[in-house]
Amino acid sequence: MMDWEVVIGLEVHVQLKTKSKMFCSCSTDFDSLPNENICPICTGQPGVLPKINRRAIELALIASKILNCKINRISRFARKNYFYPDLPKNYQISQYEEPIGYDGYLELPSGKRIGIMRVHQEEDTGKLLHYIGSRKLDYSLIDFNRSGIPLLEIVSKPDIRSPEEAVEYLTFLRLNLIYAGISDCDMEKGSLRCDANLSVRRKGEKELGVKVEVKNMNSFKSVKDALSYEARRQIKLLEKGEKIIQETRLWDERGGVTKSMRRKEYAHDYRYFPDPDLVELEFDEEFLNEVFSKIPELPLERRRRYIDELSLSEYEADVFISNKEASDFFEEVIKGENDKSFFKEASSWILNDLLGILNERKLSFNELKLKPEHLKELVKLKISGKITSKIGKEIFPVMLEKGEFPSKLLKELDMEQIQDEDEIRRICSCVLKENQKVVEDYKKGKKQAIGRLVGEVMKKTRGRANPRAVNEILRNLLESSP
Ligand SMILES: [Zn+2]
Repeated sequence: MMDWEVVIGLEVHVQLKTKSKMFCSCSTDFDSLPNENICPICTGQPGVLPKINRRAIELALIASKILNCKINRISRFARKNYFYPDLPKNYQISQYEEPIGYDGYLELPSGKRIGIMRVHQEEDTGKLLHYIGSRKLDYSLIDFNRSGIPLLEIVSKPDIRSPEEAVEYLTFLRLNLIYAGISDCDMEKGSLRCDANLSVRRKGEKELGVKVEVKNMNSFKSVKDALSYEARRQIKLLEKGEKIIQETRLWDERGGVTKSMRRKEYAHDYRYFPDPDLVELEFDEEFLNEVFSKIPELPLERRRRYIDELSLSEYEADVFISNKEASDFFEEVIKGENDKSFFKEASSWILNDLLGILNERKLSFNELKLKPEHLKELVKLKISGKITSKIGKEIFPVMLEKGEFPSKLLKELDMEQIQDEDEIRRICSCVLKENQKVVEDYKKGKKQAIGRLVGEVMKKTRGRANPRAVNEILRNLLESSP
């Protein structure tokens, strides 16, 4: 293994976040019943005319931009001809010679740049069903809901040097696409799919080895496992003096091996030609500027802001960046605030308290009853000393459950802070009387003994006194008594 270098390029397909399909107005809703979202266009009926989804084009342009690609000012759709039972037109509308974007790169957090060969737009196929539940059918069903859903294909250059780096690239690409609003990138729902090209060569060699395409990897873990397996397989063959065949192999998750599926096809097999039904796209400066002006803050920018401006730790920033929902919730909580202790406190509630509970209950942020404004108030109460940490921790689960402002709940549960100073003084006196021994210690010079007394007062008030006020009152009482 040591003498070999692994060379990987990835082809990533993501489903664009549009309401309607690429060339018709059918819905892209994932949860619809089979064949609920279909029309003559996306089922390939004769005589229909596709029309281009403007939003999909905008998203493809944004993806190209954030991947530092050059933009083809004139971009065209092409027909990719092949036969497959779930492809009703017997061709797929894709892009060939004039993709939307080309020749860019993605900079990883490590600083390494992975080249991007092209970013192009295409449409998805339908879906064949061979099972109902767990029952294998002796026929196949076709669901055309997915047919015509806009996809973006992002092809990297062969710049990736290990299966681990492939996962790093995918993870970061996914985050960027999510932040820019281009796709949900949900692998489980198939809105992010990844194929890989992998070859090996002896270290120091300039020529690329024969590449094998690996398909059917359904999670980042399977990408890592499949590529590790495939690299080992190729090295073993070459060391035995055998040849690598250019082919497509499928990852068999259960067996932990890749299996030959078919000899690799070449571009000319598809007989690409410009789609005569679709106009060519021409982007002028003004249009591009307008589209690019809507690009939101990207993960690396947000990370930098969290560390430099909000004074969060690198760890906190990284956890937020990798969880956009959490980060967006945090953004809502800190909106309009400019106090660093507020940022710190809000971050702590979300990362230390909220995320754990969400994971445990398998809930997402939009299923939460707790709203950012509720947490905002809690943070304010805590920082201003109106509630103690202890009260905060007690009221937080109730806030989660009821989705209410803490001030309202504190009142309802009789947990509000005691505002009446006479009342606190009365309790303090009482505590002094009951703890004569501690009082004597204090008077003998053991000043830290006051901590115990404060603790006793907090216990008596069930944490409803302001510890700072209690401290002050106790000190006064102790100093003034003989
Ligand atoms: Zn349709």
